[in-house]
Amino acid sequence: MTRLIVRDTSVMTCTDESVQEHVDVEVEAGRIVGLRPAGRAVEPGTTVIDGAGHTLLPGLLDAHVHMALIGPAGDHGDGSWISHVLRVKDVIEDTLLEGFTTVRDAGGLDPAFARAVDAGQIRGPKILPSGSVISQIGGHGDLREAHEAVHRGASIPGLVARPEVVNGADEVRRVAREQLRKGATQLKMFTSGGVLSPTDHWTHSQFQFDEIRAAVEVAQAWGTYVLAHCHSEAALMQVITAGVRSIEHGSQVNDEIADEMLRRDVWLVPTLQILGIIEADPALTPDQRTDINQIIEGSRRAVRIASAKGVGIGSGSDLVGPDQTGRGLEIALKAELMGAAKAILSATRDNARLMRLQDSVGTIEAGKRADLVLVAGSPLDDVKLLANGANLPVVIRGGEIVKDTAGMAHDSDS
Ligand SMILES: [Zn+2]
Repeated sequence: MTRLIVRDTSVMTCTDESVQEHVDVEVEAGRIVGLRPAGRAVEPGTTVIDGAGHTLLPGLLDAHVHMALIGPAGDHGDGSWISHVLRVKDVIEDTLLEGFTTVRDAGGLDPAFARAVDAGQIRGPKILPSGSVISQIGGHGDLREAHEAVHRGASIPGLVARPEVVNGADEVRRVAREQLRKGATQLKMFTSGGVLSPTDHWTHSQFQFDEIRAAVEVAQAWGTYVLAHCHSEAALMQVITAGVRSIEHGSQVNDEIADEMLRRDVWLVPTLQILGIIEADPALTPDQRTDINQIIEGSRRAVRIASAKGVGIGSGSDLVGPDQTGRGLEIALKAELMGAAKAILSATRDNARLMRLQDSVGTIEAGKRADLVLVAGSPLDDVKLLANGANLPVVIRGGEIVKDTAGMAHDSDS
């Protein structure tokens, strides 16, 4: 299957917010050849997908996934490692079938899984792994209860990447270099507290400037960057000044912080979907409920501020736990705050820029990798279509049809 054409479809190339009608999109040898008006003859031996009534989008990108955190508590779970691997494999495969052709794992997934996808052993999206998240003692990644002295488990290279709890810039350098050695494509750091961690509060700043700076310098020397889990204003100012590229959650981004992000080309990856899931959990304590509501309200305000100022906004679902389906809901939730077109761009063109993959994916343009999804209907008119993989009958990764639930593909001769 070297030549493929999606015929007479609506296309959102995601180079901008426009939609083109009645277009053929040609693919050859895994690359997009280009767009042309529909109606021209198709060469024999071409695989044809009739796209009338559908909209073709670039393959979606998710900038914040945790595909190995499949335990009920949002951790690695306590099953056998063989069962863990098989379940992570399912999550990776399901993520591709929901239209996500590139994802950035924000911690917990050993880079060996990304290599297994590259080697064709798992049919999944291109994965950019962060390996173990770097946490301070008592930070968001320190999973010990207050009465526990010893960590309950360690990372197992090639299998599981638990948070690395460290102290001081030298230890940050050591674990940062270990992640890169193991195949992390960027580094993830907890630089503020969180809602569900056992011994901290989300308003805390975590790590000191020299520790964050150490990770940034190690990453930059390796040609990459740091993404930082970060909430409070003080913590945000510290990490932005220290040179991180990507702020995850960023619930307290205000005007002043957004200006600084714009000036330094720091991106915001709000994670609205997971916040809603946490908020709906009946097991939350009253204090946790207060916290999560403050974070949700702050996140929505942060998206509005950042969007109005033109700060780069990526798209990340942050789903954890056994059920990680429906990642596309993040795009619909963001659409409520910034409009459907900008929200779709955040999960395509803009996520590709954030991940520094803009030369290969994120838009439908000649020469780019043929990562494409066909949506039944118009996502600009009804962005919630993207929240359910059933509305995406065709997924193409690198020119290969990896999903065709409605049997839409046929040979040009038939
Ligand atoms: Zn996360």
